[in-house]
Amino acid sequence: MAHDPNCIFCLIVNGKADAHKVYEDEHTLVFMDIFPVSDGHTLLIPKDHCQDLFEASPDALASLMATSKCVATALRAVVEPEGLMVFQLNGAAAGQTVFHYHMHLLPRWVDQELALHTRVLGDPARLAELAEQISTALD
Ligand code: 5GP
Ligand code: ZN
Repeated sequence: MAHDPNCIFCLIVNGKADAHKVYEDEHTLVFMDIFPVSDGHTLLIPKDHCQDLFEASPDALASLMATSKCVATALRAVVEPEGLMVFQLNGAAAGQTVFHYHMHLLPRWVDQELALHTRVLGDPARLAELAEQISTALD
């Protein structure tokens, strides 16, 4: 399995950096975004390091996509958003800031300003609570 020692998401996969984990299986890891744009902002990554959509293997993508539906359903049950945005950025010009493929699940509410990033750290207690609740809500 590819691993980049300078990649923060690889460090999370290997347990060398902390994250509020929601779910993991052989291929995919799911955890809370540490700078949540909205309550419940969740990331899915392949465990095998790849930079972006162009480097990702079709198998890793297929597995992650299937998992995303389960996680999105659990996330919706927990935070009850009015909508759910799914996005994934490729390259700095597209706004990508962490160069390990990831899919964002971003709960949205009608009156909320549309943004892809924030610099405000999430409340650790709330991130832990959400991770626990979403994990429990998974089938
Ligand atoms: P990108 O801009 O590359 O699509 O998204 C990267 C995401 O990773 C951002 O939403 C950012 O908040 C999140 N992020 C960056 N570093 C960390 C970290 O160390 N832990 C967690 N959980 N999320 C991170
Ligand atoms: Zn990585």
